[in-house]
Amino acid sequence: MGDLCVKCTMCCNGTLYPKMPIKPSEREALGPAAEIHVNSQGGLELALGCRCLSDAGACQIYERPPSVCRSYSCSLLESVKKGEFTAEEALAIVDELHGMFDKLQKFCQSVMPEVEWPYLLVGRGVLMELLAKAEAGGAVLSRYDLATINTQQRFIVQYIRQHLDVKFMQPFVEHDAMLGERAVKAMNEAAEQFAKA
Ligand code: SF4
Ligand code: SF4
Repeated sequence: MGDLCVKCTMCCNGTLYPKMPIKPSEREALGPAAEIHVNSQGGLELALGCRCLSDAGACQIYERPPSVCRSYSCSLLESVKKGEFTAEEALAIVDELHGMFDKLQKFCQSVMPEVEWPYLLVGRGVLMELLAKAEAGGAVLSRYDLATINTQQRFIVQYIRQHLDVKFMQPFVEHDAMLGERAVKAMNEAAEQFAKA
């Protein structure tokens, strides 16, 4: 992991993907805390965020990570390798993205302080799930709140698609299909009503 990846960590921490394939021989190196599932084809999948990622952003098994980790490179890293972005420009993009997550988390916390909002509000449909739970628990969000959350989340999705992974969110939409569709529909309706008001 170079400086960029240590600062970013989005392909390891569950932001970009909910899971990744691993080989049986790679299981042991991931340690007992790793959350590993067998998929419908009998293959192994590691749930992300990965427990081998340290708080400082380093891979703790960097000498023998799964083969997928060794070969993976997001669009941003590829752009740096090709000389299309400087390392500083790529770091600025990563900083910008972390700032967006931070802003969204703070906004959600301010309008629904009774819910504990995690930092990564896009990955794994976490935002949608928490919104649905908060509403089921009686929390009432104004149209302005929903429209603001919707806008900020869409902006993050577009930004990640632009710079890191053009298909971002597709695995999450498949992963959390029902919940995602319901919550996205509710947020879109609220945003439309807000725009008309
Ligand atoms: S998403 Fe890209 S820049 Fe970020 S850690 Fe992964 S490979 Fe590195
Ligand atoms: S094993 Fe290392 S490189 Fe692979 S997902 Fe986990 S922290 Fe990231």
